[in-house]
Amino acid sequence: MPFSRQEREYHRMSRRQHTFCRICEASCGLIATVEDGRVVQLEPNSEHIGTQGFACVKGLNQHHMYDSPDRLRHPLKRIGREWHRVSWEQALAEIGEKVAELRGESPHSLAMYVGTAAGFGVLHPIFAQGFMQGIGSRNIFSSATQDCANRFGSNA
Ligand code: SF4
Repeated sequence: MPFSRQEREYHRMSRRQHTFCRICEASCGLIATVEDGRVVQLEPNSEHIGTQGFACVKGLNQHHMYDSPDRLRHPLKRIGREWHRVSWEQALAEIGEKVAELRGESPHSLAMYVGTAAGFGVLHPIFAQGFMQGIGSRNIFSSATQDCANRFGSNA
């Protein structure tokens, strides 16, 4: 459904919007300045009840990644030392073939790393776990494996 004139005007204006950082579980409170529908500045929110004005350099600069020339926007395949753009169909077909080949050797030759941001999706971790269980591999890791495996081990 197209935006109404009022909605278009709202998006064109510069405005400050309360939000929070989704990079890690700290979920720091931020204030975004939005111009023409684009985030142009992020500041810590000193009134946020949990983080009280804290935000790290990564969180405060995340809006720059949208325009980065290094942003990954499509599948790339490494051939020798170079990266070549391939279609999603080719990428998924070749990855599927490789996974099947490795699974045939041993399911445990396959591993998955689930990044922190996946935790913000309700179904992502569940599907990731289910996929690895279906393959029969015990090797699923996450940022918690790096950050707090000692706590899991000691049950602290
Ligand atoms: S601002 Fe930094 S510490 Fe806070 S949620 Fe984002 S990445 Fe995590």
